Amino acid sequence: MNFDPPEEHALLRDSIRQYFLRDLPEAQIRSMDRDRRIPREIWKTFGQLGWLGLSVPEAYGGSNSDVATGAVFCEELARQYPSLAMGWVLLSMTGRIFREHGTEAQKAEYLPRLAQGDFIMAFGMTEPGGGTDVLGLSTRAKLDGDAWSVQGQKLFTTLADDADAILVLCRTDPIENGKRARGLSLILTPRQQDAVEVRRLELMGMRSGGTCEVFLDEARAPADAVLGPRGRGWYTLLSSLDEERILSAAIYVGITAAALDIAVQYAKDRTAFERPIGAFQAVQHPLAEVATELEQIRLLTQKAAWLLSQDRECSREAAMAKLAATETALRATDSCMRVLGGYGLVEESPLERLFRDARLGPFSPISNEMVKNFLGERLGLPRSY
Ligand SMILES: Cc1cc2nc3c(=O)[nH]c(=O)nc-3n(C[C@H](O)[C@H](O)[C@H](O)COP(=O)(O)OP(=O)(O)OC[C@H]3O[C@@H](n4cnc5c(N)ncnc54)[C@H](O)[C@@H]3O)c2cc1C
Repeated sequence: MNFDPPEEHALLRDSIRQYFLRDLPEAQIRSMDRDRRIPREIWKTFGQLGWLGLSVPEAYGGSNSDVATGAVFCEELARQYPSLAMGWVLLSMTGRIFREHGTEAQKAEYLPRLAQGDFIMAFGMTEPGGGTDVLGLSTRAKLDGDAWSVQGQKLFTTLADDADAILVLCRTDPIENGKRARGLSLILTPRQQDAVEVRRLELMGMRSGGTCEVFLDEARAPADAVLGPRGRGWYTLLSSLDEERILSAAIYVGITAAALDIAVQYAKDRTAFERPIGAFQAVQHPLAEVATELEQIRLLTQKAAWLLSQDRECSREAAMAKLAATETALRATDSCMRVLGGYGLVEESPLERLFRDARLGPFSPISNEMVKNFLGERLGLPRSY
């Protein structure tokens, strides 16, 4: 087995670090976090740097990189600012759905703009009635003349406040043979219309993700705005779920790595009883544990990403990576906060932000309880939901 990362991964990590040092230093990130939004120009710059086209085929202006490269990118981005990584995962995931299921006309229209940062697409699946039991959603769409009319409400729709369109999962056709997964469609609904109202949620963590409530009151979408076959939206979506889990895991690998860097540096610099606090075993041991767990979750995430990059079955590994990385990031940010003492609570400390951002992991994009249900089933145990 070869554990040496390819040279292009090291170069990619370095280019992200350089960009943040030069263009988006910590003070600016803090102010973005306070403003709770990512300025549109940042996505535009990401497009120019080729960072939104990683998963887009070359024919549409992307670099067609594999998921293993995407996971490295995402880890490094989250190390700098997790909210940005969360938005990036959404854009990458919607890009994959278009790449794999779009018609030639849809791919030609949207993929180049997505890769350039000229088109921001949100994804609306979760509803106020529940995100876990997603097939019970109640948003509906019907064809009305030459357009779809979409009626319903979405909750926790990331990037929706600044999006050009929202990919809405809704019921267009009846449930077939008791199968709720049938009869759902994905409809690309333009965001800028009176019939779409968006209210930003004031969240504790991942504050700049532009996560919103979305009200669709007979919102219009062109008749050809269905992505993938009509009535098969759930199945269209399934192909992107492993990637979403792997990239989400990478976010929490990045959060853990960033927290560890901060705590180790602090343990070296801060003195008590005339020595650096890092000289005390009570400070060293939790950091040694975080370093070990970081290595574990990074390897698991990279294994899942590598499998997907080889087009091999990886649902089990993707689920495990998501579970392990998100739970580790929770524990790790807590351990690292303790090393910083009171300073960890000060808003100027990036660790305070990482601690808040890590809270999202256990329930998004899928709750860890559902991940364990899935993994339990994979062990041959009865389906529990
Ligand atoms: C910052 C943020 C960004 C998000 N971005 C998006 C987005 O862009 N698009 C989108 O569609 N959604 C998004 N979500 C929604 C996210 O995917 C949901 O929060 C998640 O799926 C859980 O749904 P819920 O919050 O409604 O919890 P619920 O479904 O109400 O679940 C509550 C609890 O019950 C548990 N539970 C429910 N059923 C079972 C079961 N059968 N077995 C065991 N436990 C169970 C869950 O695990 C959880 O702990 C986002 C959420 C947040 C907070």
